[in-house]
Amino acid sequence: MHISNRITGLLGGGSDGWEIFNRARHMIGNGVPVTELTIGEHDIRTAAPILQDMYKSAMAGHTGYASVPGTDTLRDTVAQRVSARTGVPTTRDNVVITPGGQSALFASHMAVCDPGDTALYLDPFYATYPGTLRGVSAVPKCIQTRAADAFQPRAADIAAAAQGAKSLLINSPNNPTGVVYSRATMEGIAQVCIKNNLWLISDEVYDTQIWEGDHISPRALPDMAARTLVVGSMSKSHAMTGSRCGWVVGPEAVIEHIINLSTHTTYGVPGFIQDAACFALDQGAPLEEEIAAPFRRRRALAQKVLAEQNAVALVPSHGAMYLMLDVRSTGLSGEAFANALLDQHHIAVMPGESFGQAAAGHLRVAMTIEDSAFEAALRTLCTFAETKVA
Ligand code: PMP
Repeated sequence: MHISNRITGLLGGGSDGWEIFNRARHMIGNGVPVTELTIGEHDIRTAAPILQDMYKSAMAGHTGYASVPGTDTLRDTVAQRVSARTGVPTTRDNVVITPGGQSALFASHMAVCDPGDTALYLDPFYATYPGTLRGVSAVPKCIQTRAADAFQPRAADIAAAAQGAKSLLINSPNNPTGVVYSRATMEGIAQVCIKNNLWLISDEVYDTQIWEGDHISPRALPDMAARTLVVGSMSKSHAMTGSRCGWVVGPEAVIEHIINLSTHTTYGVPGFIQDAACFALDQGAPLEEEIAAPFRRRRALAQKVLAEQNAVALVPSHGAMYLMLDVRSTGLSGEAFANALLDQHHIAVMPGESFGQAAAGHLRVAMTIEDSAFEAALRTLCTFAETKVA
């Protein structure tokens, strides 16, 4: 029997970039202790008061089919939050609740790309991006950013790829680089989108993790609200990765269609999860800051450790729970470095090559373990790098 080309071709052939992660998990399975700095998951669990609210909601009977677009309360809460953060007037009709940001990424591209349309994205990229674009039968086209530009995309590079394309997917704060796009970068991107009539899909799931400067949401730039879909999520901001609760914010006409898509795919998000998301969002900035605080602290620790040596350089990462380290001075690829570090020191980091070609010779380090173990692992990594520098 034939299995659809769409689904068998989802990964596009080649590696999925998770070899080191899988190898580390295999070692752990065999009883070898490995320090894992690989995955973007908090080292804390969802806070007890959020879980208590979830329980309360479930016990009160919110366990049936929930409203497919999202509950009115959660849509209103997200709309108010977006209005307050960006200044763009946003109502419930601009919001659809989805099972996490990943589902929102898929739904957004379903909404704007026809089969065969070119969908642009930037390298380095979050691992699921190309597969998500293929999943909607779009043709993914990758635009390289450059280490020399600290991975801030150049508008001219996007413009050079934009002719005939339908959409552009961006992510700031960025996974894997931790880079926050500057206002100039965002304005350049907006201009290219307007000139080339592109939809902009802005993945802002790390918008509460900003260590320096400001997060600019491109939906707030002139003439951009009509062509921008913002992807958001409770996963990173509220340590609710397992709750699967996110959203798309965009023009009402698009949101209406995404709601139809939800009716025919996910049929919405459980009501008790949505209630708990409302409760979490109602706690406001203090809770978001509390959840971001360990990463802020560990980034400062990393800056201190890295300032004491010359083999490893830190890409200016102003946000997100990752550091991107430049290890090109060792002459090793990111892959070779990460494999050797795992074998010799039992420390697992992601090679930059797992996220595309632009971050070759780099490593992504997730700041997701306790401070002293994190500092010790970084020191080992730097000492190891020093032994490789000629
Ligand atoms: N976008 C980016 C850049 C991510 O790193 C992730 C998760 N790691 C997601 C989207 C999806 O997150 P979720 O589905 O948990 O909201």
